[in-house]
Amino acid sequence: MQVNGLLRSIDAVLRLLARVVGLALVFFSVGTSGFAHAGSTVMADGAGRSESRDERGKTLIAGRNVSCKDIRGVAVHTMQIANLGDVGRAGIINRVPIIAIDPDIIGKLPDKLQLFFYQHECAHHVLGHWFQMKTSMETEADCWAIRHGRDHGIFRREDVLSFAPFLAKSGGSVFGHLPGPERAKYLLKCFDTL
Ligand SMILES: [Zn+2]
Repeated sequence: MQVNGLLRSIDAVLRLLARVVGLALVFFSVGTSGFAHAGSTVMADGAGRSESRDERGKTLIAGRNVSCKDIRGVAVHTMQIANLGDVGRAGIINRVPIIAIDPDIIGKLPDKLQLFFYQHECAHHVLGHWFQMKTSMETEADCWAIRHGRDHGIFRREDVLSFAPFLAKSGGSVFGHLPGPERAKYLLKCFDTL
């Protein structure tokens, strides 16, 4: 992965989002990554539409109602953004916590993996990563997502095992995402421990 290309893509997404949403962009994170393709074109197609205006931050992922609240208890809004360049990203726009999902990328993934990536982005909000950035953010978000799914009856152990072939394509990232095979093992370890 070419980091420069990725950073340029992220920068383009940020500018696009700021325009689409029409608000000052306070901070926007990198996404689930490993799935980000350097050099992918980020285009303004005006498709940034709010998926959920529900106050409780509910949205539909893989046919399942999910919701997310941040560390302050504020509902996290989910938006579908075409050409995001990754499955999902988490961030804050004008103090409103946001999860952005690329409908084309996530739509190609199995249901449970879609839910995992949504919960991974949610975890960044739940764990308050905006207020205390650290290099362990990505592994913490992964573990939180897996355990949350496990404890809510969404993920069985075999679901987590089934993620491995999809994650295998990922080379990891400079932002702390583990390379795919390592990440798959780590997720399983999270499932098997407290
Ligand atoms: Zn992340």
